Amino acid sequence: MKKERTLVVVKPDGVQRSLIGEIIKRFERSGLKLAGMKMMVADPAFIEKHYTIDPEWRRITGEKTIKGYRDKGQTPPSEDPHEITGIILGHLKTFMTSGPVVAMVWEGVHAVKIVRKLTGSTEPLSSDVGTIRGDYVIDSYQLADIDKRAIRNLLHASGTVDDAHKEIELWFKKEELIDYKLVQDKVLYDVNLDGILE
Ligand code: ADP
Ligand code: MG
Repeated sequence: MKKERTLVVVKPDGVQRSLIGEIIKRFERSGLKLAGMKMMVADPAFIEKHYTIDPEWRRITGEKTIKGYRDKGQTPPSEDPHEITGIILGHLKTFMTSGPVVAMVWEGVHAVKIVRKLTGSTEPLSSDVGTIRGDYVIDSYQLADIDKRAIRNLLHASGTVDDAHKEIELWFKKEELIDYKLVQDKVLYDVNLDGILE
């Protein structure tokens, strides 16, 4: 459990907003451990592979978008989740290849859920205050739709442990991830917490 890993990608807007350090800080101070990190420019085929790694992504993201509109009393651009994600995927390819991104792997107990919690929900308009997306960016389904682009929400974070496995395998070679100890691991995980007092 203590070795659970998740993928975080600072998207091109996060890099351009000079928020790489802030994003790292949020995860670092939670107690999670950085297992690997690199900067790269992705190509469209790689981005499609990344987002469609979960065969359910097209349906879930389409349904989430429709709900996002309905919750605000608005009409979604289509009633068909797959039609919506077809458009979103095109926008994501443009967005995610527009500049460098920073990919990271974070490790620790419940890493996937903890990182999602600190990241906040997809639409910055609705993301909770205190989350990275809630604190550092303003955007909505509505504006992204009018401007025909992907939502700019600073970072990607794996949705499930299974997705995290597949995404990490896509983004990182085995030798790019490092197993090591942090002194703080003992404070987080040691059962007896002994050896502190002299
Ligand atoms: P998350 O990144 O929160 O896991 P999804 O996996 O559902 O969200 O979607 C992937 C990315 O696609 C989002 O982070 C966002 O950048 C973009 N996106 C999702 N839904 C929409 C939408 N309705 N309009 C524009 N962009 C969207
Ligand atoms: Mg997702």
